Amino acid sequence: MPELPEVEITRRRLAPLLLGRRVVEVRTTRDGYFFLTPPRELRRRLLGRRFETLERRGKYLVAGLNGGERLLLHLGMTGRLFSGGVPDAHTHLRLRFEDAGPELLFRDVRKFGKVQVLAAGESSPRLARLGPDALAASPAQLHTAGRRRRAPVKTLLLDQSVLAGVGNIYADEALFLAGLSPRRPACRLSRQDCVLLARALKRVLRRAISDGAGGRYRDEGRVYGRAGEPCRRCRTPIRRVVIGQRSSHYCPRCQR
Ligand SMILES: [Zn+2]
Repeated sequence: MPELPEVEITRRRLAPLLLGRRVVEVRTTRDGYFFLTPPRELRRRLLGRRFETLERRGKYLVAGLNGGERLLLHLGMTGRLFSGGVPDAHTHLRLRFEDAGPELLFRDVRKFGKVQVLAAGESSPRLARLGPDALAASPAQLHTAGRRRRAPVKTLLLDQSVLAGVGNIYADEALFLAGLSPRRPACRLSRQDCVLLARALKRVLRRAISDGAGGRYRDEGRVYGRAGEPCRRCRTPIRRVVIGQRSSHYCPRCQR
């Protein structure tokens, strides 16, 4: 599942391919929940528009168009955005450009991704409910968010209204680096815990971005997906528990 680093890497890869280009053709698959803006309207609103900016908000990509509209893209579980390549039955959105260069393709096998056009000045409830970006979150913001919650800190980290962009893998890795058990009630995080946690989040996310996300980092993960294997620090077997319906991996000795 694409998390913040994968989305940020996609943004960096796509920006040079997208910016300054004008859309001359929009092709989609059938209408469905993937299209928050229905295909016919999507075509009407994108045709002739030029991409001016490409930003990331949590796990969303937000492209600014020259009329002031914004194109919102979410990769869902299996979404991939790329330029060039051959479209297939899972390619739900294709944009062709005036310069006749490579097309932009949005392929998504499970179709949990999202596409929406926002009118100029239109706010998006999906973006409005996002908390501060996980790469920019301060210890004080984490402390304030956790103070009144008895939910486990793992659940707090996955709540996109608290912190935008953190998913299961990086939450587990950051909690290990911070020495915090994923089961610790959020209201029992001290200010110092929050300092360590904010630092750990930035470290795992930045590292994943610079590694190119996906493959390499996961192989080097300290806890995620390593249930029963020895902790890389103390050799205690890594434990797997389910918290808020998500699997969590942690070292019962290093994380309290
Ligand atoms: Zn350990």
